[in-house]
Amino acid sequence: MTQEIEKVKSFIIGSGPAGYTAAIYASRANLSPVMYQGMEPGGQLTTTTEVENFPGYPEGVEGPAMMADLQKQAERMGADVRWGVVTKADLSERPFKIETDDGKYFEAESVIIATGASAKYLGIESEEKYKGAGVSGCATCDGFFYKGKPVAVVGGGDTAAEDALYLSNIVSKVYMIVRRDELRASKVMAQRVIDNPAIEILWNHVTKEIVGTENGFMKSVNGAILENVKTGEEKKIDIDGFFVAIGHHPNTQLFEGQIDLDQQGYIITKPNSTATNIEGVFAAGDVQDHIFRQAITAAGSGCMAAIESERWISEQD
Ligand code: NDP
Repeated sequence: MTQEIEKVKSFIIGSGPAGYTAAIYASRANLSPVMYQGMEPGGQLTTTTEVENFPGYPEGVEGPAMMADLQKQAERMGADVRWGVVTKADLSERPFKIETDDGKYFEAESVIIATGASAKYLGIESEEKYKGAGVSGCATCDGFFYKGKPVAVVGGGDTAAEDALYLSNIVSKVYMIVRRDELRASKVMAQRVIDNPAIEILWNHVTKEIVGTENGFMKSVNGAILENVKTGEEKKIDIDGFFVAIGHHPNTQLFEGQIDLDQQGYIITKPNSTATNIEGVFAAGDVQDHIFRQAITAAGSGCMAAIESERWISEQD
């Protein structure tokens, strides 16, 4: 039996602000883009609450609502937005060959990679054991479950600071576990954390183990064992929730060995461009940006990727 192949001009992988903006521009340029939304439709903004810094929303906007609006806008322009995950992308020759988890095969003249980045975890065994049962990578998603209870946030960057401040309004106490004697977070965020009486910063501490109880399938966290890296001293803190906020890694596993990546795995794009080392393949958003990582910069690069795709395709005709 021969496999049916859909031929598309522009194939967009990922549905964050970069992907949707690319879809809006590509649709308006008559490229009839097909988008696969990926594992987390709407991307990282669907795991946040209020976005205050996206221009055009004077009162702020809820992250999931903004992403739903972007999807509607892309679809209204004609983008074919599909729920599903790209399982294989062969970028070795044109047209590029793509397979998806709904059993579809595509040949694409151009590809826009907008697969974003995902939260990093510590990588200790007990963290894996209690994931979803006390261990979380998203304070705004799960904070509510710990109302009135003590929790810990690991990390010293803006994400950790933001998470600790957010949780301080819900929980009884926040321990912020910081591996150095200073925060990486911006000065204003760092000061807010330091000034907050509900947050105790445990400087120079790392997590050795997360502990809890297990009763059949029911698991719950009740503490963490920490080590002071300066003195070697260990101590236990009593907590019900453990939030990991130590940064992100780019979602580029699908393209390893095919496309040029930097040491951290981010896609390398040409200066002032979204072009990758493969002609016809463009990258936009957090998957190629480890510096700004903002919704607005992702959206801007999605626009660039669509414009560059359209120019590239018209040069091939
Ligand atoms: P960052 O990379 O900035 O910070 C990560 C933090 O986690 C650092 O304090 C780091 O420690 C710590 N860390 C990393 N690995 C470990 C580990 N294995 N164990 C313990 N601690 C660890 O990531 P963020 O997600 O905080 O921020 C990413 C970017 O997004 C930044 O540019 C940030 O400014 C931006 N951002 C902006 C916001 C805003 O403007 N409202 C909100 C959120 C993020 P160390 O310092 O020792 O390396």
